[in-house]
Formats: sequence, C-alpha cells, structure tokens
Amino acid sequence: MTCEKLAACPFYNDKMTVESGIGSIYKKRYCEGNNLICARHKVSVEIGKEFVPENLYPNMLERAEEIIKEHKENNTNKTN
Ligand code: SF4
Repeated sequence: MTCEKLAACPFYNDKMTVESGIGSIYKKRYCEGNNLICARHKVSVEIGKEFVPENLYPNMLERAEEIIKEHKENNTNKTN
C-alpha cells in the first residue's frame, strides 16, 4: 500500500542524502510497499510528525522505537 505521507515526506521527495540505489529500494520497500515498518512513519503516527528527526531513515526502526519511548517517558515525567 502506498504511504499516505508520500507527498510531504522528505525521504520520498529526495530531500535526504541517500546512497545511490538504496533510495529506490527503500521507496519500493517502505513508501510503496509497507509503511507500517517505516521508522519515519512510526514516529509520525505515534507522537507527531514534528518529532521525526531530519536524519531518520525508513530502516531505522529501532531508533524510532527509542525516540517514541524517550518522548513518552519525558511526557510522563512532566505530568508527575
Ligand atoms: S513510508 Fe516512510 S519514508 Fe516513505 S513516504 Fe511514508 S513516512 Fe516517508
């Protein structure tokens, strides 16, 4: 399924530096394939697109999970 964020996504629109070849592979795999395993998509839908780092690539799912966890921990601390 094509990602709904495609039109505005810096990765898909070649605004991020990507090794030649890898970019199109990732676009097929994530953007035009399965966006549910994309790190950028995950951060965006879970905590908001403003929290997606400029240098987060689709394959950095572990980093995405850390960002989400840190964000949730920070928010929990603020309310306590
Ligand atoms: S799958 Fe990820 S990288 Fe691709 S358009 Fe969606 S948010 Fe951007």
